[in-house]
Amino acid sequence: MLSFVDPRTLILVIGLVLLCRALVLLYVWLVQRKYPPARDWAIGTLACAFGGLLAGLRGLIPAWISVVMAHAFLIPGMMLIDCGIIRAAEVKPPWRTGLVISGLATAVIAWFFWVDPDYGSRIVVFTAAVVLFDLYTALVCLGNAQGSRVATFRILALLLLALSASNIWKTSHILTEGIESILSSSPANVQFYLVVTAYAMITTSLCVLLTAQKLQEELDSQARRDSLTKAFNRRAMNEFCEREWSRSARHTYPLSFLMADIDHFKRFNDDYGHAVGDLALAAVSRTAEQALRPEDIWCRYGGEEFVALLPHTGGEQAKAVAERLRAALEEMTIEAPQGPIRLTVSIGVVERSMEHQDWNEAVEHADRALYKAKSSGRNCVVLGE
Ligand code: GH3
Ligand code: MG
Ligand code: MG
Repeated sequence: MLSFVDPRTLILVIGLVLLCRALVLLYVWLVQRKYPPARDWAIGTLACAFGGLLAGLRGLIPAWISVVMAHAFLIPGMMLIDCGIIRAAEVKPPWRTGLVISGLATAVIAWFFWVDPDYGSRIVVFTAAVVLFDLYTALVCLGNAQGSRVATFRILALLLLALSASNIWKTSHILTEGIESILSSSPANVQFYLVVTAYAMITTSLCVLLTAQKLQEELDSQARRDSLTKAFNRRAMNEFCEREWSRSARHTYPLSFLMADIDHFKRFNDDYGHAVGDLALAAVSRTAEQALRPEDIWCRYGGEEFVALLPHTGGEQAKAVAERLRAALEEMTIEAPQGPIRLTVSIGVVERSMEHQDWNEAVEHADRALYKAKSSGRNCVVLGE
């Protein structure tokens, strides 16, 4: 039954499948305008679909269009799809190298078309370019270690490796058995085209999945952050406190809490306006995140009060961290319409102890230490118990 399938029809069908894939990805791009990889996949697949359709029209349109123009769409299209995957993995795609390889490969194919009737060299150049893009992309996917998307990148890498292997296998067949092996409708050939089509469908689904996963990650992260200061919000703080409290108990390592409160912030708002107050809160948070260590957790407790969790840190060491934080904030200038202005903070510090029943009680003790810092004249650090 397979021998009734006309090879040109087969290539046209693949072109149409690519066109459907492009329509799906264009829709995803329309919905997710802010996600650049979605644009790369949509435009790249559309270019591949044009290339596939031109190749499928061989014999019906001038040969140079169906051969040279098909490659001029197919090679950059494939590069764009791979660059989208690389971009989704949050790695900078090698645009310039990709464009140079695409341009060179297309030019060499065009040259071979006019000077050398043998198709073998054209196929080798095409396969070399595509396999190069795919292998590099697979490598990037395997090196990606990002949250919920790791498994999706691994599957993509495996698919790209399998596709590269089948492309090399197919090219060696063409070189040994002649062009008939690609244009004939032998079961092996039909099988090859089916594998390529299945690959296209699976990668489309994975690209859509990556877009959805990225969106979900962004929503999750936004739900855990305070929108003004970008510090962790109260809900995330409760989760971190719960987690760190039981970890430090389980692994018997010290854990400390800082509670920081901006001094005379009511007056600050009255003097410079609420908008400048908001700027100051964001600046305090930025400076604090820089002054603290990466493993420390900086949260907005409410209003102009912040809590920092310092895992693996005893009281004296936490006091030194708090002092460094206080000094960094005292040095900080806020660019207000009235000119550069400064502020100070008071900080209460407490180390987790056997006396505390739970983390809520430890935070309460940090608050008491903060109160002492306020009554000792502000702009200072007090270690509580
Ligand atoms: P103290 O040194 O004793 O802490 O004095 P204070 O004026 O800072 O006293 P208090 O902590 O009671 O005042 C907090 C002020 O912080 C009151 C409120 O106007 C201001 N504030 C709370 N949240 C925000 C905010 O999101 N933006 C701005 N601009 N101000 C805020
Ligand atoms: Mg306060
Ligand atoms: Mg205050």
